Amino acid sequence: MNVPTALRDQPLIDRFARRISYLRLSVTDRCDLRCTYCMPERMEFLPRAEVLTLEELHQIALAFIDRGVTKLRLTGGEPLVRRDMMDLVRALGRKLGDGLEELTLTTNGTRLAEFADDLAAAGVRRINVSLDTLDRENFKRLARRDSLPQVLEGIAAAKAAGLKVKLNTVALKGLNEDGIPDLIAWAHGQGHSVTLIEVMPLGEVEGDRFDHYLPLDAVRRDLESRWTLTPSDARSGGPARYVDVAETGGQLGFITPLTGNFCEGCNRVRLTATGQLFMCLGGEGKVDLRAAVRSDDPDAAMAEAFARAMGEKPEKHSFAIDRAGAAPALARHMSTTGG
Ligand code: SAM
Ligand code: SF4
Repeated sequence: MNVPTALRDQPLIDRFARRISYLRLSVTDRCDLRCTYCMPERMEFLPRAEVLTLEELHQIALAFIDRGVTKLRLTGGEPLVRRDMMDLVRALGRKLGDGLEELTLTTNGTRLAEFADDLAAAGVRRINVSLDTLDRENFKRLARRDSLPQVLEGIAAAKAAGLKVKLNTVALKGLNEDGIPDLIAWAHGQGHSVTLIEVMPLGEVEGDRFDHYLPLDAVRRDLESRWTLTPSDARSGGPARYVDVAETGGQLGFITPLTGNFCEGCNRVRLTATGQLFMCLGGEGKVDLRAAVRSDDPDAAMAEAFARAMGEKPEKHSFAIDRAGAAPALARHMSTTGG
């Protein structure tokens, strides 16, 4: 393939002059939970042969780092259910300080107690743990598995290992909204920040997400009637907007993909476990990096694929959750691209 050498390590800059410095890497589409808003009980997972090997994931991640990606988030599915996951974390951890500034992951926490020390030893400093409720029965309903005790144990282990924990909570009308203030108060008491997320119309699930869609401005109004929320300058380089909660002394973030557009400063792309690079969580556009990494000249093929990806990254996402019974805006589940 005829790609000039000078173009091979070009920084990733898209048509709208946004520089891509953040990669979310899904290491598996499999999961040990079945959160009702994320996937159906009988989720069909990918045949293992389609999933990138550890070596391929590593090779692709290094190619991104060579092109200026400084932040890597491992996700899934549930990243900690992939058997060789810690080998990847250790291999990528060796790039910290050598191009990579941050290595982190998003996990449901069920296996965190087992891996928290290893993650910290590999150079991970902060992790996101998804937790939608502190009520065991409600957790069982929402995640279709009785795993709250393991998750809480995992969060405690992460704290003990010195990892900074941020909780992600999807706000769901009639399902967990009543417990959100208690969850925030508990998390802040433990020293963890919380980010609330609006449910997004990604992939078929049983039931209609519209029934449980809860706009975060309503949640915010409710919280403002209890606490003093002061807008904070904190930015994670991502879509969350933060406030400080005076009474709890903690930080609270809001991610509003449906009520607020945050695409202007987007610095990220997402790679699925099969090597499909999605330039936007809310779009169908993708570039096949698996074909590139498996080609005869992977360096040239990846350079060409990266150039194509930057030419195709859309200006903004366009999904909405505005009608009861409407099909999901995208057929792809959140567990494919890892959120
Ligand atoms: N299994 C890991 C976990 O739950 O943290 C990582 C993958 S999960 C897909 C990443 C995040 O996406 C979780 O915080 C989850 O709550 C969120 N999520 C899943 N489906 C969603 C949806 N349809 N809308 C909004 N957030 C969703
Ligand atoms: Fe699994 Fe995470 Fe989806 Fe829940 S949100 S089913 S933990 S991938």
